[in-house]
Amino acid sequence: MNILLVSAEVSPFAKVGGLADVVGALPIALKRLGVDVRIIMPRYERLTGNPSLEPLLPDVVVTTGRGQEHCRVLTSQLPETKVPVYLIENTTYLSRGPVYNEHGVDEPFTELARFLFFSAAVAEIVPLLGWEPNIVHCHDWHTGLVPALLARRAVRAATVFTIHNLAHQGGWNAAAVLSFLELQEADGRHLATRDRHGDLNLLQQGVLGATLINTVSPHYAQEILTPERGEGLAESLQDRRDDLVGIINGIDTHQYDPAHDRYVRVRYTAATIERKAENKLALHEQCGFTPDPTIPTFGFIGRLTEQKGVDLIVQHSTMMVRSGARLVLLGSGLADYESLVQKLTREHPRHIYARLGFDEAFARAIYAGCDLFLMPSVFEPCGLGQMIAMRYGTPPVVHATGGLIDTVPDVAAEPERGLGFTFTPFTPKAFAESVARGLHWYHDRPRWQALLSRCMTQDFSWDRSARAYLELYQQARKTL
Ligand code: ADP
Repeated sequence: MNILLVSAEVSPFAKVGGLADVVGALPIALKRLGVDVRIIMPRYERLTGNPSLEPLLPDVVVTTGRGQEHCRVLTSQLPETKVPVYLIENTTYLSRGPVYNEHGVDEPFTELARFLFFSAAVAEIVPLLGWEPNIVHCHDWHTGLVPALLARRAVRAATVFTIHNLAHQGGWNAAAVLSFLELQEADGRHLATRDRHGDLNLLQQGVLGATLINTVSPHYAQEILTPERGEGLAESLQDRRDDLVGIINGIDTHQYDPAHDRYVRVRYTAATIERKAENKLALHEQCGFTPDPTIPTFGFIGRLTEQKGVDLIVQHSTMMVRSGARLVLLGSGLADYESLVQKLTREHPRHIYARLGFDEAFARAIYAGCDLFLMPSVFEPCGLGQMIAMRYGTPPVVHATGGLIDTVPDVAAEPERGLGFTFTPFTPKAFAESVARGLHWYHDRPRWQALLSRCMTQDFSWDRSARAYLELYQQARKTL
């Protein structure tokens, strides 16, 4: 089976967020399953990771409503694998400036035009590669019109569209989009569909136009069918509910491995879990606490935003302090939250420590050194923090939502299989109860040890997710 992934971001060449990690990791796992998988992306002005670029197609003409454009196609490979990456170079749209035009410096259409052009170029280039994909796997709004554009070129491939982030949709004036692509409403089955703002919405087009669609966890796939979580697209998603599945992201189990992690003071495995206590002492030292392995220690790592449930943690922190527990926070985000957590540190220096900013080394010290990991997100499409924490033998306390439900079975519901402590509804009381349950388990040593080793031996690898994607591809291919 030949698979082509189409994405605006690909780690390590162009990374802004989690999308890059998925598109950088999934192909490697697919290749191990024997799939011929390749990637196509824009050749941005700045690529990270020093890719070697070989010319493949010297001149491909792409026609838009604004005139003819010349592109060059270069090839590279993902590092340490032989996964081919095609990069489309074009000075007008693709190869100038950062990945996203985040600050709106130019006209707002600029960013949209970049990805419309990219999508049109992909449809033009696929038939010229000398290699025919059976599946074209598109990611997020940037590639939402690729299925319609491939159909216009009569490319015989099934399409899969993955929603990583429903919040960004790429909606714009329909007449402008259609004239840029030289498309008519009649050219595609869904091109006459508009979103709640009356715009042609690229994410919606991907949802309606792809052969099959998925998002990054089974529960989130259900939640986005509701008006509450559907970000205005619940109806379109409902229309496709029989073709929508959820596939949990993997984590990089080599990078996140307490047995080999160079950031971790004392390395350990499930068989040597007692060594984890030494990492707790190291963490206490780093936080300026008096080191004490017997004191339960909670950790939080994430963006300081409403989504991540920071309010619940702040509200509950004084109760934690009163119970004698310790709390370590790492993150950056909204200024209000940043000053709130700094205030907590000032008020309770012997119990609470917060570090602002992005700090990989300290993140590992928290994953390895804490007893319980707090992730009370309001909503969570998949979530990585909880999986990384479990891999380091740190059971999570999570709000029962989205990917957190799928990855953290509760110990109360499933004593033999449970991996953490979940709460619902999203209230301070329910959160406090799950924290208390976590502490109760922590003090029951044999039961606690068994829980930790269960967490550490779970399979959170990309291999598992890749098998699920392969099934999805096989299903999509049957429709051809
Ligand atoms: P998000 O919604 O931000 O993508 P995830 O849980 O899916 O949340 O992924 C967050 C990832 O970023 C995790 O790997 C986490 O360890 C890491 N991370 C978040 N904030 C920080 C930080 N301040 N310093 C270091 N790593 C961080």
